[in-house]
Amino acid sequence: MSLALYDTWSRTVRPFTALQPSHVGLYCCGPTVYDHAHIGNLRTYVFEDVLRRVLELNGYKVRHVVNITDVGHLVSDADEGEDKMEKGSRRTGESAWEIAERYTRAFMSDWRALNLLEPTLWCRATDHIAEQIAFVAELERTGCTYRTNDGVYFDTSRQDDYGYLARLDHAGLQAGKRVALGEKRSATDFALWKFSPPGSTRQMEWDSPWGRGFPGWHIECSAMSAKYLGPWFDIHCGGEDHIAVHHSNEIAQTQARHGTRSANFWMHGHFLTLDAAKMSKSTGDFLRLQSLIDRGIDPLAYRYLCLGAHYRSKLRFNHEALEAAQAALDRLRKAYTSWPVGGTEDEDFVARFNAEVNQDLNLPRALAVLWELVRSELPDETRRATVDVFDAVLGLQLAEWRADTFEIPADVADLARQREEARARKDWPESDRLREVLRAKGWQIEDGVDGQRLSPLDAKGA
Ligand code: AMP
Ligand code: ZN
Repeated sequence: MSLALYDTWSRTVRPFTALQPSHVGLYCCGPTVYDHAHIGNLRTYVFEDVLRRVLELNGYKVRHVVNITDVGHLVSDADEGEDKMEKGSRRTGESAWEIAERYTRAFMSDWRALNLLEPTLWCRATDHIAEQIAFVAELERTGCTYRTNDGVYFDTSRQDDYGYLARLDHAGLQAGKRVALGEKRSATDFALWKFSPPGSTRQMEWDSPWGRGFPGWHIECSAMSAKYLGPWFDIHCGGEDHIAVHHSNEIAQTQARHGTRSANFWMHGHFLTLDAAKMSKSTGDFLRLQSLIDRGIDPLAYRYLCLGAHYRSKLRFNHEALEAAQAALDRLRKAYTSWPVGGTEDEDFVARFNAEVNQDLNLPRALAVLWELVRSELPDETRRATVDVFDAVLGLQLAEWRADTFEIPADVADLARQREEARARKDWPESDRLREVLRAKGWQIEDGVDGQRLSPLDAKGA
């Protein structure tokens, strides 16, 4: 078997070989925990999960690190505006620390619902302030930083190939620049450490050699990936929006400190879009996994939907496509559970499936192989055993699925949605009334940290 992956750095699909035999270091930029994850964010984690499973299929032991951004991610990429955490705190009235805790837990719950494999390590930015300060101090020694009244900045003019990952056009950038620079010398320079605003105290701030403040967003990933995977590791992932700024800056820092571009492969998942517009947490109007569950959709049907589009093409979300994914998953489950255990896999089908996933994770074609197998004349137990092999990559948990898993009727889903809306506008009497209506229909609602969960009353004790 040979695995080939698309590398954004070289802009080519090239053969993957691990830097150390049989071990792969994989760093994935994680969530900024000032709000729930939206289903677009989750698409990127599904892509990364499939990547990890394909690496494991190829016999690699994967050291998978995912960070939690709980400080330093500013509202604007130009190092201006408020910290997203402090802004979230103003929105909800909770402290920035409470918000981080709440949305980290909600994120983990989405993670499990999508059957994403547990990373080897989760790491929080706020647990690694010392590493980030040390990184900035090292950068200062190399002479590629400067100070302004509001922070310490990286001087991107010191690197001839700054922005190569994004193929940034320096001449064009300089000529066309319209952004407010503040005291920055160039539009592409970025904050390594920002001072707390004079005369005010931030909820999250630390002492540093330069003054009290907080780390920039990019330094967190460079410091933590270098700590846990070394300054030269196999694969660094994120969504496509990270190419131009976040990952270009990670590379610049690591280049200056360690002389490497951090990772051998840089891989990016393309966006899920909603009605052609970028789905954005910052606009406050977005779809969560829980919103799909409330419509009676199984989180794994959302996973199936993601598998049906190549990670390097945009996926335009709509409910019809999601319902079609749910129907396909239902058909697959039904067929699978009707087949007896005890067979052995069909090697030709396995070879074809593996060839597809090894060609830059071509899951749409791998799914076509799956359906060809389902419709084939092979003995039932052979089909079941072969699907088991595929499911190690697909992650649809077919073997765990039980036919008695409940389906939510449309009227119940609708009542549950109304209740969520009532809760959102803090209309507690209406929310309680709807809970009772649902109870009378045989459904119960539990309010968790990450929203409400619906289940049939009789299934609870079962
Ligand atoms: P954030 O929580 O905003 O830091 O983003 C978490 C991850 O989701 C990052 O890898 C982003 O690149 C990715 N991402 C953000 N928006 C989308 C989207 N609409 N579709 C797919 N991935 C996204
Ligand atoms: Zn990152």
